[in-house]
Amino acid sequence: EPITIKGLSSATGIKTAQIIKFLFKQGVMATVNSAIGTEAAMEVAMEYDIELEVKELETAEEKVEKQFAEREKVDEQPRPPVVTVLGHVDHGKTSLLDRIRQADVAAHEDGGITQHVGAYRVSVEGNDGAKKTVVFLDTPGHEAFSTMRARGARMTDLVVLVVAADDGVMPTTIEAIAHAKAAEVPIIVALNKIDTPQATDENIRKIYGQLAEHGLNPTDWGGETEIIKTSATEGTGITELLEILDYQAELLELTADYGGPARGTVIEAEMQTGRGSVARVLVQDGQVKVGDFIVSGRAFGRVRDMINDRDQSVADAGPATPLELSGIDLVPDAGDKFFVTDSLKRAEEVALQYRETERQQTLASKTKVTLDNFADAVAAGNIKDLRVVIKADVQGSIETLTSSLEKMGNDEVTVKVLHSAVGGITEGDVLLADASDAIILGFHVTATPAVREIADERKVDIRTYRVIYDLTDDVKKGLEGMLTPDR
Ligand code: GDP
Repeated sequence: EPITIKGLSSATGIKTAQIIKFLFKQGVMATVNSAIGTEAAMEVAMEYDIELEVKELETAEEKVEKQFAEREKVDEQPRPPVVTVLGHVDHGKTSLLDRIRQADVAAHEDGGITQHVGAYRVSVEGNDGAKKTVVFLDTPGHEAFSTMRARGARMTDLVVLVVAADDGVMPTTIEAIAHAKAAEVPIIVALNKIDTPQATDENIRKIYGQLAEHGLNPTDWGGETEIIKTSATEGTGITELLEILDYQAELLELTADYGGPARGTVIEAEMQTGRGSVARVLVQDGQVKVGDFIVSGRAFGRVRDMINDRDQSVADAGPATPLELSGIDLVPDAGDKFFVTDSLKRAEEVALQYRETERQQTLASKTKVTLDNFADAVAAGNIKDLRVVIKADVQGSIETLTSSLEKMGNDEVTVKVLHSAVGGITEGDVLLADASDAIILGFHVTATPAVREIADERKVDIRTYRVIYDLTDDVKKGLEGMLTPDR
C-alpha cells in the first residue's frame, strides 16, 4: 500500500499543499494523489516534528516466503542448473531439445523421459566420468521465459541461445539476447546446423562477428561467451553442450537445501478431468511428500499424488525435480511459487488472502510504468531508471536516439536502453517491455493492430514518433513529470 500525499496529510494533519511545496523544494514534482516513498514521507514528517511510524504491510504469501528465506538450512548441496532454450524460429530449438533428451544416460535404467511435466532432467557422463545433470524447461522460446519473469519467477539459471549456422543472427536472436540480458541470465550459444554446407569457416566467422556486435564475444576471440557447435540432426556437440552447462553452473555456485519443507515454482497448471487441478512444478528447495499441505498462488490443498519426468509415481521429491502434482483446489498461474506449510489451515489462509488481493487488483488494475506516470513512480521510490526499448527504421536513428536518451539522466534518474533494433514493433518487444517494466519508443515505425492489442492488454506504453525532437522532448518531460497526459 503506497503512501499518497493525501494519505500522509490525513495521517499527520499537514496540509497537502505544504507537503507538495516541501517536496517541490527538494526537486520532486507531486500532486495530491502521487505516491511517495517511505523515506520521503519520513522527511516530510520530520520537517514538522511529527513522529511517523510506517508499517510495512506484508501479505501472507510474503510472510511464508520470508519464513522460508530465513529458515536454517538443513542440508545445503550443489544443485543442477535450470536451462531455457531461446532462439530464432526454425534454428533448431525443438530438435536440439529432442537430441538432448536422447543423450540422457538414465534413460536406459528407468525408461527415460516420457512424461510431459513442463521440465525434465538430463544426465550425461562427462569426459571425466562424472555424471552431470541439467534441468531443461520444456517450452523453448521467450514467450514462456518472459511470462514467468513478468510474474517475478526467477527460475532459469542459464540460457542456451540457438543460432543456425546457415542463417546467422536474426531479429528474434537479438530479441532473445535482450531478454536474457534483462533477466541477468548468462548465455551459452549453440551454433546449430553445423552439418550444413553453409557452415563454412567464413560464415562462422561472420556469425561470431554478429554475436560480438550484440555483446556476446566468443571465448575463441578472447571474450566471455562459450559457443558450442552442434548438429541436432547428427547429434554433434550435445555432450559438450551439457558439460559446458554443468561447468557454468559450477561457476555460479548454485546450491539448494535438500532438507526441510519444500518450495518451488509452477511451470504450468491445468484442470484435468478425473484428477482435478494439477500443477507442473519444479522443486527448488526442500522435500515435498505426498500428504504435504501446500499453497500456490490462489490454490491450496494436500498433495494427493506426484508424477516425475520419468512417468514414475513418487512419494517424495527434492530440489531440481520436475513434478506433476494433484490435490490442490484451483489452478495456479505459471510463475506462481508453491510452499509446503505446516498445516492445512495455514495453506488456506495464505491462498484466501491471495484471492482477496487478486480480487482487489482486478478492481484497481496494476499500474505499469508509462512516460506519464514515471516521475510519480520515482517520487514513490519505486524505480530509478526509465527503461526503454527503441525501434526505428534505420540504424543511424537508433544510434542518435540512444546517445541522446542516455545523456538525459541526472543523479536521480537515468534512461536505460534495454534493447534497440531496426524494424517494426513486435510482440517480442512488448513481452520484453512487459517483463522488464519498460516503455517502447518507435521512430518512423509502427506496431500492427495485433501488437497494439497485446500491449494494451499488458498495459505496455508504446509511443511512436516521426521527429527526433518530439521523441526526446517527450522523454525529457516524462523524466521531469511534466508531460501533459493528453495522449
Ligand atoms: P525451432 O523452430 O527452433 O524449434 O526449430 P526446429 O527444431 O523445429 O527445426 C527447424 C528445422 O531445422 C527442422 O526441419 C529440423 O529438422 C531442422 N534442423 C534442426 N537442427 C538441425 C541441424 O542441426 N542440422 C540440420 N541440417 N537441420 C536441422
